[in-house]
Amino acid sequence: MEQVLLLTPGPTPLHPRAVAALQWPMRGHMDPEVFAYNDRIVADLHTLYQTGGGGLTCLLSGTGSLGMEAGLANLLEPSDSVLIISNGVFGERMAEMAQRLGARVSVVRAPFGAGIDLAEVRSAAKRVRPKLIAAVHGETSTGVLNPIPEIGEIAREVGALYSVDAVTTVGMLEFKMQAWGIDYAYTGSQKCLSAPPGLAPVAYSARALTAISTRKTPVVTWYSDALGMLGYWEPGQQGRKYHHTVPVQLHWATGEAIRAALEEGIPARSERVRTVAAAALAALCTVGFEPFVPEAIRLPTVLAVRLPPGLDDAHVRYRLRHDYFISITGGLGETAGKIWRLGLMGETARPEHYRALLVALGEILGEPRLPVVFDQALPTAALAA
Ligand SMILES: *Cc1c(COP(=O)(O)O)cnc(C)c1O
Repeated sequence: MEQVLLLTPGPTPLHPRAVAALQWPMRGHMDPEVFAYNDRIVADLHTLYQTGGGGLTCLLSGTGSLGMEAGLANLLEPSDSVLIISNGVFGERMAEMAQRLGARVSVVRAPFGAGIDLAEVRSAAKRVRPKLIAAVHGETSTGVLNPIPEIGEIAREVGALYSVDAVTTVGMLEFKMQAWGIDYAYTGSQKCLSAPPGLAPVAYSARALTAISTRKTPVVTWYSDALGMLGYWEPGQQGRKYHHTVPVQLHWATGEAIRAALEEGIPARSERVRTVAAAALAALCTVGFEPFVPEAIRLPTVLAVRLPPGLDDAHVRYRLRHDYFISITGGLGETAGKIWRLGLMGETARPEHYRALLVALGEILGEPRLPVVFDQALPTAALAA
């Protein structure tokens, strides 16, 4: 099969160390070498999420959506009250999950592409007195970055637990679980880490674990019960307990990808995102694209751009995929046909990949200056890297 360059907001091109780890020989899920490797993942996730230690970090066998569902299922009992902050598809997904779990759901909404009104969140939190507040850090459907530390202050004011969707941020941008007062956070292996899809790296605070172990009712989904995870991931008095057959190859690939991210360092990775995004946007703006989201609330890892009038969205993306083997993503829901969403997570945020996209677009649109503007806008250091 041909290589296709994925410049989508997930999945992302695999990190070479993740690819290599997929070839490691098979081991059983209770093998001592697997446990030793898992221990390193636990420690690395504490660093990645900046948990400050304590609680539980681990990998769930499923995608980012399982991470989302597990948090809600563990932290809410039927008829508990939850306040969800939503300005896009993933905020709405949280609300639907919480509804299905039988929670009493209140939602503070902002229009797709707009920022969250903190005064509205504060007054809703004071009115509802939720057990849990849940928010999305970076809304992939619109490219909006939400004010996670500020929502955390509100959670503290009303004594609520706080869950944050870190799918488009942790591993690429600063994420301070402890400092921001977060009790649960999750991502998907295929987003900022550039590992294959199939795992959800998650983190529970000590306070979250206490809340889970003092529930009146069992967690409704056996598979994602955090206490079951704890028995496998942390040695108890009788050692480690079998919970389910973990996908060991995916543990290795994701473990190596986490290592690669920590070795490169989050500041260097953020810088990579910002320089490539700025240069790509500068080039695209010369031919009539416009940023969809104001700079103050723009998510660095998913660049949403409004299409120039007259551009044939489906045709251009078809040509990119079939003639140039480059995949990019259009709008979701109400933004379909109006925007593109360019991924800058993990291995997507490389100057050579965006240069390839702009060369291809330049040919399709008859605008050969696209890559020239990109090169001029890119700091020379970035091109050499
Ligand atoms: C991709 C994504 C998810 C869901 O992840 P899947 O791996 O597709 O299940 C959740 N939240 C955000 C913000 C995402 O971008």
